[in-house]
Amino acid sequence: MTFFAKVSFYGKDASLLPHQATLNPNVLLYGEVIGFASWLMDKDWLLTLIKVTKSGSAQTADQTSFVGGRPKLPPSCPLPTCKLCGEIQSFFFQVAFPEIHPWAGRTLAVFQCTSCWKNSYHVPLICREIFPTMTTNSLLPGDDIPDDLLDLVQIRHRFLVFPTAEGVVRGDYPERVRYRPISFELAFARESTTKSKIGGQPGWIGGDDEFPGKYMGQPLIFLMQWRGEFQFKLTADAPPPYGELPEFQDTREYLLCLGNQVYFFGNDTDGKSNIYLCDQRV
Ligand SMILES: [Zn+2]
Repeated sequence: MTFFAKVSFYGKDASLLPHQATLNPNVLLYGEVIGFASWLMDKDWLLTLIKVTKSGSAQTADQTSFVGGRPKLPPSCPLPTCKLCGEIQSFFFQVAFPEIHPWAGRTLAVFQCTSCWKNSYHVPLICREIFPTMTTNSLLPGDDIPDDLLDLVQIRHRFLVFPTAEGVVRGDYPERVRYRPISFELAFARESTTKSKIGGQPGWIGGDDEFPGKYMGQPLIFLMQWRGEFQFKLTADAPPPYGELPEFQDTREYLLCLGNQVYFFGNDTDGKSNIYLCDQRV
């Protein structure tokens, strides 16, 4: 309550809001600050840290953001398959964007094939080697993304966006990654962070700003980032990563995009949500 008093005193004049203010999650309940948080988010002063629960627990149908377990997808949505090997892709995590986010009400679910191994396909790479019609060898930061490519580049990966309310736990998916619920924690974006987060600005770990240009003539917004080297622990029955490669037969975790830090951007064109992923090596 102390914080709210301060907020109302400073009003909406951003220049008067103390830069050194800290947000105490014990004082502020998430639902209470949504209106204020939306305004702050516009100013890039607030972001949402993604907290993955350490200990496992049974998956519940009402949880909308989580690592592993079974994905919660619209019933009519086919389980993603790999365009190289044809196997069902492994489900890594999904995040239901919270109320303070421009994509509130939508969920992003992230899949990657763990059944095959092929160079140049470990991340969704936009390059001439894979798309010969490109006029440059690779996509550089700030470049516009060639039209219609964001669907085509999801070869060993799939990024599904759908209304959160339509998701149901998919019993037809063979569970591979251990289930861990995700919670959110509001934080001020005073400094760049490389932790997993939603909103604010990308916390580039390589120092280079790789914000993309436009896609289908529209700018993209930064949606979220996922921390590099995060280990997606496997269930007892899950196959090892990379199919038959012998050196990975005893590996009991999957890595997303080789364990690189990944950044998700998105926009909407013709009523469709588009996702662009770029990665930086830890
Ligand atoms: Zn595959």
